[in-house]
Order: sequence, then structure tokens, then C-alpha cells
Amino acid sequence: MEVVTMSYTIGIDLGGTNIVAAVVDADFRIAAKASCKTNLPRTADEVADDMVRMSRQAAQQAGIQFEEISSIGIGSPGTVNPMTGRIEYSCNFDFYDVPMAELIERRTGKSCRIENDANAAAWGEYLVGAGRGTKTMVAITLGTGIGGGVILDGKIYSGFNCSGAELGHTVIVLDGRQCACGRKGCFEAYSSATGLIKTTQETMQRCPDSKLWTFAPSLDRVNGRTAFDAMRAGDEAGERVVQEYIRFLACGLTNIVNSFQPEILCIGGGLSREGDTLIQPVAEIISREDYARYSKRRTKVVAAQLGNDAGLIGAALLEKADQSNPLS
Ligand SMILES: [Zn+2]
Repeated sequence: MEVVTMSYTIGIDLGGTNIVAAVVDADFRIAAKASCKTNLPRTADEVADDMVRMSRQAAQQAGIQFEEISSIGIGSPGTVNPMTGRIEYSCNFDFYDVPMAELIERRTGKSCRIENDANAAAWGEYLVGAGRGTKTMVAITLGTGIGGGVILDGKIYSGFNCSGAELGHTVIVLDGRQCACGRKGCFEAYSSATGLIKTTQETMQRCPDSKLWTFAPSLDRVNGRTAFDAMRAGDEAGERVVQEYIRFLACGLTNIVNSFQPEILCIGGGLSREGDTLIQPVAEIISREDYARYSKRRTKVVAAQLGNDAGLIGAALLEKADQSNPLS
């Protein structure tokens, strides 16, 4: 009888814009990727069909048989119950209580796990990225919003109802900026890329002579880099925006450190590409304000290592989420 080695798994990033499937090998590296447009609105069955199609395509590109895939993992937006395999609610997909893991298992005959996308990304960074070798880590992604993932004692923590770790929706300014979640003054409203863009635009309107206008000739062309670029060109208004951004970010992150005291606080997303320009001053403020500042053991604030692959790798490794020693 032929012996089939099952050393590959598939990780899927189910996004509102793209569906990406990746084959991950035994060394936790991505062997191949395939992607297609999500094309919302669509039914859960159509989305499942596409996820399977991309999985098969990725396996083909990796030069392996689909039979060599041991399991499939999905990172999905919204409230996801990993115990039941159901997407309980996702507003971008307009899904209510969809048994997505089952839809994939029925189509492929392979076991399928599903997690919230921010949790899947945190799981990837925890196992093979910035959190490698630790037991407790918090991952924050600074993107359009702020994604949070909490790993406590080697397990993904998302509360008793799978809605926890929404760290972007903790308030840092009482009665502050309106947040998409309905509250005012959320961490996300100030410290996401969207929040930084808003602060940059507000400053530009007050400072018509600022070099910010050189890097973004109109308000709709402002992005997360504009203020950093202006600052590097010696612009005072640009520097003020960056300084204010750093203070908001450090405030929200210190709240997280004081809540969890993780071994590693990992910062990812597009803005983390500013590297030490951002991470170092933020880490200094956290170090001054951290409740454990007199402790010998302190949280390390570091940049994420896996970039956009964290979600794919984390999803591919979801089959290890219940193991006491996931990397063995
Ligand atoms: Zn909010």
C-alpha cells in the first residue's frame, strides 16, 4: 500500500476583497499561494466553493497532491466559534451562523478549523514569528482598524462567547472621536492607519504652509506614510502629527500591557513598516508607564515578523491550537 505523507496543511485568509489560500509545509513555510476576488455579496456555499478551488490551485502550484494536505484552516472576519466551526456573525459577508468548517469538510473530506482572522494572525506570529518560544503574547495589527489577538498560556483567548480580544475598541479619549463600533474615543479611532490619516488631514487644514501638502497634494491622497515622510523632511506639523500618534498608540498599548503583561507585545500591519521610527519611541513611553516597571521581567515590544503571511500561516496551523506542545 502506498504511504501518503501528510506534511502539508492549507491556510486560508477569507477577506472582504480577496480569498487567499496557501500551502504551508512541515517547516511552517508557505510553499505556494493562490487567490481570487471575493466578489461580495455571495452565498456561503459560493464562498466555500471558491475557498476549495483556491486550495486545490495552491496545492497544484506547490507541486503536491491534494491528498497530501492533512487539514485546512480559515481565518475569517467577524465572530467565529472555533469549537463549532461556525461564523456566528460577519457584517462584511452578511453571514449569520454559517457552518463554514462543515461546508469545507463536505467538499474536501479534510478536517477544517476556523478562527477569527486577527486571532489566526496572532497564532501565526506566536508559533513561528515574533512570539516563538514564549507562552503569552498579544499581537496588535495597525491597519484600517486595529486587530487584536491574545495568546494566554499557549491558547488563543477570545472570551466565553468568542467576541473578546477586541482591543481596538477600548476607549482612550472619553467622548472622543466617533468609532465605527458605536462608541466614542476608541483606541482604533486614533491609532489605526485610518485614525492617523484623519489626524494628518485635520492638521493639514489648520496648516496650509506645511510640507504635508507636498507629500499629499490633496486631502484624499493622505495615507499612513504622509506624516512620517513630512517629518523626515523636517516639517514641524508633520512631526507634531507623528508625536501625537505615538502618544495615542503608547496609551492604548500600555493599557494592553497592564491588562495582560504578555511576554511579547507584537505590532504588525502597514504602519509597523516604519520600524524603529515608530516602535522605539512607543516602547520608551510604555516602559515609563508600565505598571510592572519595577519588575525584573518586562514585556518586550517588537515588530511583527511574518507581515501579511501571519494570517495564512496561523490559519494553516489551527489544527495545533488544542495541542499542549504545538510545534513538536
Ligand atoms: Zn470602537
